Amino acid sequence: MTDVHIRPAVQTLPAYVPGARSTGEEVAKLSSNELPYPPQESVLAALTAAAGGVNRYPEMTGDALVEAIAQRHAVAPEQVVVGNGSVALIQHVLDTICDEGDDVVLPWRSFEAYPICIAVAGARAVKVPLTADGRHDVAAMIAAVTSRTRALLACTPNNPSGPALTADELTALVEGVPERVLVIVDEAYLDFVTDPAVGDALTLLADHPNLLVSRTFSKAHALAGMRVGYLVGEPGIVSAIRSVATPFGVNLPAQAAAIAALEPAALAETARRAAVVATERDRVLAALRAQGWQVPDAQGNFFWLAVGEQTDALAAHFRAAGILARPFSGEGVRVSIGTPAENDRVLAATAAWPAR
Ligand SMILES: *Cc1c(COP(=O)(O)O)cnc(C)c1O
Repeated sequence: MTDVHIRPAVQTLPAYVPGARSTGEEVAKLSSNELPYPPQESVLAALTAAAGGVNRYPEMTGDALVEAIAQRHAVAPEQVVVGNGSVALIQHVLDTICDEGDDVVLPWRSFEAYPICIAVAGARAVKVPLTADGRHDVAAMIAAVTSRTRALLACTPNNPSGPALTADELTALVEGVPERVLVIVDEAYLDFVTDPAVGDALTLLADHPNLLVSRTFSKAHALAGMRVGYLVGEPGIVSAIRSVATPFGVNLPAQAAAIAALEPAALAETARRAAVVATERDRVLAALRAQGWQVPDAQGNFFWLAVGEQTDALAAHFRAAGILARPFSGEGVRVSIGTPAENDRVLAATAAWPAR
Protein backbone atom coordinates (compact mmCIF):
# COMPACT_ATOMS: atom_id res chain seq x y z
CA MET A 1 0.00 0.00 0.00
CA THR A 2 1.14 3.51 -0.74
CA ASP A 3 0.24 6.73 1.07
CA VAL A 4 0.78 8.65 -2.14
CA HIS A 5 -2.36 10.11 -3.64
CA ILE A 6 -3.52 8.33 -6.79
CA ARG A 7 -6.21 10.27 -8.67
CA PRO A 8 -9.60 8.56 -8.23
CA ALA A 9 -10.06 8.68 -12.03
CA VAL A 10 -6.87 6.63 -12.35
CA GLN A 11 -7.73 4.20 -9.54
CA THR A 12 -10.94 3.27 -11.32
CA LEU A 13 -9.55 3.00 -14.86
CA PRO A 14 -10.71 -0.03 -16.81
CA ALA A 15 -7.75 -2.22 -17.75
CA TYR A 16 -6.56 -2.15 -21.35
CA VAL A 17 -6.56 -5.84 -22.25
CA PRO A 18 -4.02 -6.39 -25.04
CA GLY A 19 -4.63 -9.12 -27.59
CA ALA A 20 -3.00 -12.35 -26.41
CA ARG A 21 0.61 -12.72 -27.56
CA SER A 22 1.63 -15.72 -29.57
CA THR A 23 3.03 -18.68 -27.65
CA GLY A 24 4.55 -20.52 -30.61
CA GLU A 25 4.85 -20.92 -34.34
CA GLU A 26 1.81 -23.17 -34.50
CA VAL A 27 -0.53 -20.58 -33.03
CA ALA A 28 -2.45 -18.21 -35.33
CA LYS A 29 -2.22 -14.83 -33.62
CA LEU A 30 -5.44 -13.16 -34.67
CA SER A 31 -6.00 -11.11 -31.52
CA SER A 32 -4.60 -7.64 -32.31
CA ASN A 33 -5.55 -6.86 -35.94
CA GLU A 34 -1.92 -6.83 -37.04
CA LEU A 35 -0.89 -7.54 -40.62
CA PRO A 36 0.18 -11.19 -41.04
CA TYR A 37 3.19 -10.08 -43.14
CA PRO A 38 6.59 -8.77 -41.97
CA PRO A 39 7.58 -5.15 -42.56
CA GLN A 40 8.69 -4.44 -46.13
CA GLU A 41 12.41 -4.87 -46.94
CA SER A 42 12.96 -1.19 -47.72
CA VAL A 43 11.36 -0.22 -44.41
CA LEU A 44 13.41 -2.76 -42.50
CA ALA A 45 16.59 -1.48 -44.18
CA ALA A 46 15.79 2.11 -43.21
CA LEU A 47 15.08 1.30 -39.60
CA THR A 48 18.14 -0.94 -39.28
CA ALA A 49 20.36 1.81 -40.71
CA ALA A 50 18.84 4.36 -38.32
CA ALA A 51 19.44 2.08 -35.34
CA GLY A 52 23.20 2.73 -35.67
CA GLY A 53 22.61 6.38 -34.83
CA VAL A 54 20.57 6.11 -31.68
CA ASN A 55 23.23 7.71 -29.50
CA ARG A 56 21.73 10.93 -30.95
CA TYR A 57 18.25 12.33 -30.33
CA PRO A 58 15.84 12.22 -33.25
CA GLU A 59 14.24 15.39 -34.59
CA MET A 60 12.07 16.56 -31.72
CA THR A 61 8.76 16.85 -33.58
CA GLY A 62 9.66 14.44 -36.40
CA ASP A 63 9.91 17.23 -39.01
CA ALA A 64 10.95 15.03 -41.94
CA LEU A 65 8.21 12.51 -41.20
CA VAL A 66 5.64 15.28 -40.74
CA GLU A 67 6.71 16.69 -44.11
CA ALA A 68 6.32 13.30 -45.81
CA ILE A 69 2.85 12.77 -44.27
CA ALA A 70 1.77 16.28 -45.28
CA GLN A 71 2.89 15.60 -48.85
CA ARG A 72 1.05 12.32 -48.97
CA HIS A 73 -2.24 13.90 -47.95
CA ALA A 74 -1.70 17.27 -49.68
CA VAL A 75 -1.98 19.26 -46.43
CA ALA A 76 0.38 21.72 -44.76
CA PRO A 77 3.00 20.36 -42.31
CA GLU A 78 1.40 22.65 -39.68
CA GLN A 79 -1.66 20.40 -39.89
CA VAL A 80 0.20 17.22 -38.90
CA VAL A 81 1.41 15.94 -35.54
CA VAL A 82 3.11 12.56 -35.06
CA GLY A 83 3.26 10.51 -31.89
CA ASN A 84 4.15 7.23 -30.25
CA GLY A 85 1.15 5.44 -31.75
CA SER A 86 -2.25 6.97 -32.38
CA VAL A 87 -3.47 5.96 -28.93
CA ALA A 88 -0.85 8.25 -27.34
CA LEU A 89 -2.00 11.03 -29.65
CA ILE A 90 -5.67 10.57 -28.75
CA GLN A 91 -4.61 10.88 -25.11
CA HIS A 92 -2.71 14.08 -25.93
CA VAL A 93 -5.77 15.49 -27.74
CA LEU A 94 -8.06 14.90 -24.79
CA ASP A 95 -5.44 16.26 -22.37
CA THR A 96 -5.28 19.34 -24.58
CA ILE A 97 -9.00 20.12 -24.76
CA CYS A 98 -10.76 18.59 -21.73
CA ASP A 99 -11.23 20.20 -18.35
CA GLU A 100 -12.23 18.10 -15.33
CA GLY A 101 -15.77 16.78 -15.75
CA ASP A 102 -16.22 17.66 -19.45
CA ASP A 103 -18.10 15.20 -21.63
CA VAL A 104 -16.70 13.18 -24.53
CA VAL A 105 -19.28 11.39 -26.70
CA LEU A 106 -18.22 8.08 -28.22
CA PRO A 107 -19.80 5.04 -29.89
CA TRP A 108 -19.90 1.86 -27.80
CA ARG A 109 -18.73 -0.82 -28.16
CA SER A 110 -15.69 0.64 -29.84
CA PHE A 111 -11.92 0.78 -29.29
CA GLU A 112 -11.29 -0.03 -25.65
CA ALA A 113 -8.52 2.56 -25.37
CA TYR A 114 -11.05 5.41 -25.71
CA PRO A 115 -12.70 5.22 -22.24
CA ILE A 116 -9.25 4.94 -20.66
CA CYS A 117 -7.94 8.03 -22.47
CA ILE A 118 -11.11 9.95 -21.58
CA ALA A 119 -10.87 9.04 -17.89
CA VAL A 120 -7.15 9.89 -17.72
CA ALA A 121 -8.00 13.32 -19.16
CA GLY A 122 -10.44 13.76 -16.25
CA ALA A 123 -13.43 13.80 -18.61
CA ARG A 124 -16.63 11.76 -18.62
CA ALA A 125 -17.36 9.17 -21.30
CA VAL A 126 -20.86 9.43 -22.80
CA LYS A 127 -21.26 6.07 -24.53
CA VAL A 128 -23.78 5.88 -27.35
CA PRO A 129 -24.73 2.26 -28.16
CA LEU A 130 -24.05 0.94 -31.67
CA THR A 131 -27.05 -0.07 -33.78
CA ALA A 132 -28.01 -3.76 -33.87
CA ASP A 133 -25.83 -4.25 -36.97
CA GLY A 134 -22.74 -2.80 -35.28
CA ARG A 135 -22.85 0.66 -36.89
CA HIS A 136 -22.43 4.09 -35.29
CA ASP A 137 -25.87 5.51 -34.40
CA VAL A 138 -25.08 8.89 -35.93
CA ALA A 139 -28.37 10.56 -34.96
CA ALA A 140 -28.08 9.37 -31.35
CA MET A 141 -24.45 10.52 -31.16
CA ILE A 142 -25.42 14.00 -32.36
CA ALA A 143 -28.32 14.04 -29.89
CA ALA A 144 -25.91 13.15 -27.05
CA VAL A 145 -23.96 16.39 -27.55
CA THR A 146 -24.70 19.02 -24.88
CA SER A 147 -23.12 22.27 -23.69
CA ARG A 148 -20.73 20.11 -21.61
CA THR A 149 -19.44 18.17 -24.63
CA ARG A 150 -15.85 18.92 -25.64
CA ALA A 151 -15.29 16.17 -28.15
CA LEU A 152 -16.96 13.43 -30.10
CA LEU A 153 -15.06 10.30 -31.15
CA ALA A 154 -15.81 8.18 -34.21
CA CYS A 155 -14.05 5.00 -35.28
CA THR A 156 -14.32 4.01 -38.94
CA PRO A 157 -14.12 1.11 -39.61
CA ASN A 158 -15.24 0.48 -36.04
CA ASN A 159 -13.10 -1.76 -33.87
CA PRO A 160 -14.37 -4.36 -32.96
CA SER A 161 -17.74 -4.48 -34.78
CA GLY A 162 -16.40 -3.91 -38.33
CA PRO A 163 -18.69 -1.49 -40.24
CA ALA A 164 -17.40 1.89 -41.47
CA LEU A 165 -19.14 5.27 -41.73
CA THR A 166 -20.44 6.17 -45.16
CA ALA A 167 -19.46 9.54 -46.62
CA ASP A 168 -23.01 10.73 -45.89
CA GLU A 169 -22.86 9.56 -42.26
CA LEU A 170 -19.47 11.19 -41.78
CA THR A 171 -20.71 14.48 -43.20
CA ALA A 172 -23.87 14.31 -41.07
CA LEU A 173 -21.78 13.71 -37.97
CA VAL A 174 -19.34 16.54 -38.60
CA GLU A 175 -22.05 19.01 -39.63
CA GLY A 176 -24.44 17.91 -36.88
CA VAL A 177 -22.34 19.14 -33.94
CA PRO A 178 -21.53 22.73 -32.91
CA GLU A 179 -18.19 24.02 -34.22
CA ARG A 180 -16.80 24.30 -30.69
CA VAL A 181 -17.00 20.48 -30.36
CA LEU A 182 -13.92 18.66 -31.65
CA VAL A 183 -14.78 15.68 -33.85
CA ILE A 184 -12.00 13.06 -33.72
CA VAL A 185 -12.27 10.47 -36.49
CA ASP A 186 -10.06 7.42 -35.99
CA GLU A 187 -9.31 5.86 -39.38
CA ALA A 188 -6.80 3.22 -38.26
CA TYR A 189 -8.27 0.65 -40.68
CA LEU A 190 -9.21 2.83 -43.63
CA ASP A 191 -6.69 1.10 -45.95
CA PHE A 192 -8.76 -2.09 -45.86
CA VAL A 193 -12.06 -0.47 -46.87
CA THR A 194 -13.52 -1.67 -50.16
CA ASP A 195 -17.10 -0.32 -49.95
CA PRO A 196 -17.14 2.75 -52.23
CA ALA A 197 -19.85 4.39 -50.09
CA VAL A 198 -17.43 4.71 -47.16
CA GLY A 199 -16.13 8.22 -46.47
CA ASP A 200 -12.64 9.57 -45.85
CA ALA A 201 -12.59 12.24 -43.14
CA LEU A 202 -9.54 13.94 -44.68
CA THR A 203 -11.76 15.20 -47.51
CA LEU A 204 -13.85 17.17 -44.97
CA LEU A 205 -10.93 18.90 -43.27
CA ALA A 206 -10.85 22.00 -45.46
CA ASP A 207 -14.42 22.96 -44.52
CA HIS A 208 -14.36 21.85 -40.88
CA PRO A 209 -11.69 23.30 -38.57
CA ASN A 210 -13.16 21.31 -35.64
CA LEU A 211 -12.29 18.00 -37.32
CA LEU A 212 -9.23 15.94 -36.40
CA VAL A 213 -8.31 12.76 -38.29
CA SER A 214 -6.26 9.98 -36.70
CA ARG A 215 -4.17 7.52 -38.74
CA THR A 216 -1.55 4.94 -37.80
CA PHE A 217 1.35 2.94 -39.20
CA SER A 218 0.36 0.01 -36.97
CA LYS A 219 -2.08 -1.80 -39.24
CA ALA A 220 -1.81 -1.78 -43.06
CA HIS A 221 1.81 -0.54 -42.93
CA ALA A 222 2.81 -3.56 -40.81
CA LEU A 223 4.63 -1.44 -38.21
CA ALA A 224 2.64 -2.04 -34.99
CA GLY A 225 5.84 -2.67 -33.05
CA MET A 226 7.41 0.66 -34.10
CA ARG A 227 4.60 2.74 -32.52
CA VAL A 228 3.93 5.57 -34.96
CA GLY A 229 0.64 7.39 -35.46
CA TYR A 230 -0.41 10.84 -36.62
CA LEU A 231 -3.21 13.36 -36.52
CA VAL A 232 -4.24 15.78 -39.26
CA GLY A 233 -6.28 18.87 -38.40
CA GLU A 234 -6.46 22.64 -38.07
CA PRO A 235 -3.02 24.22 -37.37
CA GLY A 236 -4.10 25.91 -34.12
CA ILE A 237 -5.38 22.66 -32.61
CA VAL A 238 -2.39 20.73 -33.95
CA SER A 239 0.02 23.26 -32.44
CA ALA A 240 -1.68 22.96 -29.04
CA ILE A 241 -1.50 19.15 -29.19
CA ARG A 242 2.19 19.36 -30.12
CA SER A 243 2.83 21.41 -26.98
CA VAL A 244 1.28 18.63 -24.86
CA ALA A 245 2.86 15.69 -26.72
CA THR A 246 5.95 13.93 -25.39
CA PRO A 247 9.14 15.56 -26.74
CA PHE A 248 10.94 13.18 -29.13
CA GLY A 249 7.79 11.04 -28.92
CA VAL A 250 8.61 9.08 -32.09
CA ASN A 251 12.00 7.41 -31.75
CA LEU A 252 14.75 7.61 -34.38
CA PRO A 253 14.33 4.17 -36.05
CA ALA A 254 10.55 4.60 -35.98
CA GLN A 255 10.80 7.94 -37.80
CA ALA A 256 13.08 6.36 -40.41
CA ALA A 257 10.78 3.35 -40.83
CA ALA A 258 7.66 5.50 -41.24
CA ILE A 259 9.39 7.78 -43.78
CA ALA A 260 10.46 4.71 -45.77
CA ALA A 261 6.89 3.37 -45.58
CA LEU A 262 5.70 6.55 -47.34
CA GLU A 263 7.96 6.08 -50.38
CA PRO A 264 5.81 5.50 -53.47
CA ALA A 265 6.95 1.89 -53.98
CA ALA A 266 6.28 1.05 -50.32
CA LEU A 267 2.85 2.69 -50.45
CA ALA A 268 2.01 0.67 -53.56
CA GLU A 269 3.02 -2.56 -51.82
CA THR A 270 1.00 -1.58 -48.72
CA ALA A 271 -2.06 -1.00 -50.92
CA ARG A 272 -1.50 -4.34 -52.66
CA ARG A 273 -1.26 -6.18 -49.33
CA ALA A 274 -4.32 -4.39 -47.95
CA ALA A 275 -6.27 -5.47 -51.03
CA VAL A 276 -5.17 -9.08 -50.51
CA VAL A 277 -6.29 -8.92 -46.88
CA ALA A 278 -9.63 -7.36 -47.90
CA THR A 279 -10.21 -10.13 -50.45
CA GLU A 280 -9.48 -12.73 -47.79
CA ARG A 281 -11.83 -10.91 -45.38
CA ASP A 282 -14.65 -11.03 -47.93
CA ARG A 283 -13.99 -14.72 -48.56
CA VAL A 284 -14.09 -15.47 -44.82
CA LEU A 285 -17.27 -13.43 -44.29
CA ALA A 286 -19.07 -15.18 -47.13
CA ALA A 287 -18.02 -18.58 -45.75
CA LEU A 288 -19.13 -17.64 -42.21
CA ARG A 289 -22.54 -16.54 -43.46
CA ALA A 290 -22.84 -19.76 -45.47
CA GLN A 291 -22.17 -21.59 -42.18
CA GLY A 292 -25.12 -19.74 -40.65
CA TRP A 293 -23.30 -17.05 -38.66
CA GLN A 294 -24.68 -13.54 -38.29
CA VAL A 295 -21.71 -11.26 -39.00
CA PRO A 296 -21.88 -7.46 -39.28
CA ASP A 297 -20.32 -5.81 -42.33
CA ALA A 298 -16.52 -5.93 -42.01
CA GLN A 299 -14.50 -3.14 -43.64
CA GLY A 300 -11.33 -3.54 -41.56
CA ASN A 301 -8.97 -6.54 -41.29
CA PHE A 302 -11.15 -8.29 -38.69
CA PHE A 303 -14.68 -9.54 -38.09
CA TRP A 304 -17.01 -9.70 -35.11
CA LEU A 305 -18.96 -12.64 -33.73
CA ALA A 306 -21.50 -11.23 -31.24
CA VAL A 307 -22.08 -14.45 -29.29
CA GLY A 308 -22.90 -12.74 -25.97
CA GLU A 309 -22.77 -15.13 -23.01
CA GLN A 310 -20.92 -17.71 -25.11
CA THR A 311 -17.97 -15.40 -25.73
CA ASP A 312 -15.51 -17.01 -23.32
CA ALA A 313 -16.46 -20.51 -24.47
CA LEU A 314 -16.01 -19.58 -28.14
CA ALA A 315 -12.61 -18.01 -27.38
CA ALA A 316 -11.59 -21.22 -25.60
CA HIS A 317 -12.83 -23.24 -28.60
CA PHE A 318 -10.61 -21.09 -30.87
CA ARG A 319 -7.65 -21.50 -28.51
CA ALA A 320 -8.04 -25.28 -28.58
CA ALA A 321 -7.87 -25.03 -32.38
CA GLY A 322 -4.61 -23.04 -32.19
CA ILE A 323 -6.21 -19.65 -32.78
CA LEU A 324 -5.77 -16.60 -30.56
CA ALA A 325 -8.78 -14.30 -30.96
CA ARG A 326 -9.86 -11.32 -28.86
CA PRO A 327 -12.85 -11.99 -26.60
CA PHE A 328 -14.89 -9.17 -25.03
CA SER A 329 -16.54 -11.13 -22.24
CA GLY A 330 -20.32 -11.20 -22.41
CA GLU A 331 -20.37 -9.48 -25.81
CA GLY A 332 -18.45 -11.19 -28.56
CA VAL A 333 -15.21 -12.34 -30.14
CA ARG A 334 -13.16 -10.29 -32.59
CA VAL A 335 -11.00 -12.25 -35.03
CA SER A 336 -8.30 -10.69 -37.23
CA ILE A 337 -7.82 -11.74 -40.84
CA GLY A 338 -4.58 -13.70 -41.11
CA THR A 339 -2.91 -15.68 -43.86
CA PRO A 340 -5.21 -17.84 -46.05
CA ALA A 341 -4.10 -20.94 -44.11
CA GLU A 342 -4.88 -19.27 -40.79
CA ASN A 343 -8.26 -18.12 -42.08
CA ASP A 344 -9.04 -21.67 -43.21
CA ARG A 345 -8.24 -22.84 -39.69
CA VAL A 346 -10.67 -20.22 -38.34
CA LEU A 347 -13.39 -21.39 -40.72
CA ALA A 348 -12.87 -25.01 -39.68
CA ALA A 349 -13.24 -23.96 -36.03
CA THR A 350 -16.38 -21.88 -36.67
CA ALA A 351 -17.90 -24.77 -38.64
CA ALA A 352 -17.33 -27.03 -35.63
CA TRP A 353 -19.09 -24.63 -33.24
CA PRO A 354 -22.60 -25.88 -32.62
CA ALA A 355 -24.43 -22.86 -31.23
CA ARG A 356 -24.45 -20.28 -34.01
C1 LIG B 1 -5.11 -0.63 -33.63
C2 LIG B 1 -5.88 0.65 -33.50
C3 LIG B 1 -5.21 1.87 -33.46
C4 LIG B 1 -3.72 1.93 -33.56
O1 LIG B 1 -3.18 2.41 -32.38
P1 LIG B 1 -1.61 2.69 -32.37
O2 LIG B 1 -1.41 3.31 -31.04
O3 LIG B 1 -1.35 3.65 -33.50
O4 LIG B 1 -0.92 1.39 -32.56
C5 LIG B 1 -5.94 3.03 -33.38
N1 LIG B 1 -7.28 3.00 -33.33
C6 LIG B 1 -7.96 1.85 -33.36
C7 LIG B 1 -9.43 1.87 -33.35
C8 LIG B 1 -7.28 0.64 -33.42
O5 LIG B 1 -7.96 -0.50 -33.43
